[in-house]
Amino acid sequence: MVDVVDPYAPATAALIEALGAAAVLLDAQGVAQALSPAMRALIPALERGQSLTLVLRDPDLIDAIEQVSRRGGRRVIELVERVPVERTFRIHIAALTGGVWRNPVVLTFEDLSELRVTERMRVDFVANASHELRTPLASLLGFVETLQGPARNDTGARDRFLTIMREQGLRMARLVDDLLSLSRIELRAHLAPDTPVDLSAISREIVDSLTLMARERKVTLRLETPSQPVQVAGDRDELLRLMENLVENAIKYGREGGAVAIDVVEGASEASVSVRDDGPGIPPEHLPRLTERFYRVDTAASREAGGTGLGLAIVKHIVLRHRGRLTIESEYGKGAVFKAILPRLGAMVRNPS
Ligand code: ADP
Repeated sequence: MVDVVDPYAPATAALIEALGAAAVLLDAQGVAQALSPAMRALIPALERGQSLTLVLRDPDLIDAIEQVSRRGGRRVIELVERVPVERTFRIHIAALTGGVWRNPVVLTFEDLSELRVTERMRVDFVANASHELRTPLASLLGFVETLQGPARNDTGARDRFLTIMREQGLRMARLVDDLLSLSRIELRAHLAPDTPVDLSAISREIVDSLTLMARERKVTLRLETPSQPVQVAGDRDELLRLMENLVENAIKYGREGGAVAIDVVEGASEASVSVRDDGPGIPPEHLPRLTERFYRVDTAASREAGGTGLGLAIVKHIVLRHRGRLTIESEYGKGAVFKAILPRLGAMVRNPS
């Protein structure tokens, strides 16, 4: 196969290397001649001098490159890579003229993976939220119908049903409140809070407000904080919410008659607050998914405890907005420790990981 030597090849290669998009120039034989930095980052296994189809062995991609290289023009295909992790690319393939039998081609890659994950999450979220609302709603309507019909004159049943209806109504209200909080926090995710908030004072306030709830489950709350204020750059309401969710969970899911320890610790550039219970803990396979919306280890137990399945998702988003980190440790059977680590006031804000 003979190729006409392209006098512009070095310039074309330089152009590809200068691009911000992920692009690769393949010569008429399908060998990578130039790669943009974004391309190297996207597919590190592909190097100059290598045949692209040896790295991405997708038959549709090989076919499309072949066609464009032979006939010229352009094509767009979508490629789903499943190994090592699922990734979706939209690939634009365009021919450059210059070859006799086949043309060199330029491929530009768009990484659609994040978009696809977000789309799937949104669809799941709407389905989950509707399902969570529909269950109490169906029960409410059922009781209304019974009260209008068969139980119309049964005062005993009416009082019982009204109590259940109130509970279902409160459950729906909690769910709507949690959904609204979550969307409000997400909306402001890019604005890191910057007012001084004392983590010790926040923790003390939450311990005071949850003492009654703890007493009902015979749980002892222990708070340890440094004597001086522990200031972080924060949003007071959000940090109260964070502590409330963690301590409430420790009381709800910890051991009845057990102890919950809340520790505020001050470091040089960070401060942390941890909540430890001595309950059954969380099986390790659930840990990575615990902060997902509506994820519960035991759905029935969560519902019974009045949970919406959104508490830890709210905690995670608050921590992220504060440019902090959340760690969860649990040895099954030996309780759980949830720790929020936040940058101290005036500390350099790192990029959130
Ligand atoms: P919920 O409204 O169900 O409490 P969360 O998002 O706050 O929702 O928590 C999600 C799930 O994580 C809970 O349903 C529970 O299964 C588990 N969980 C949370 N905290 C603890 C804990 N301290 N010990 C054991 N399991 C916990």
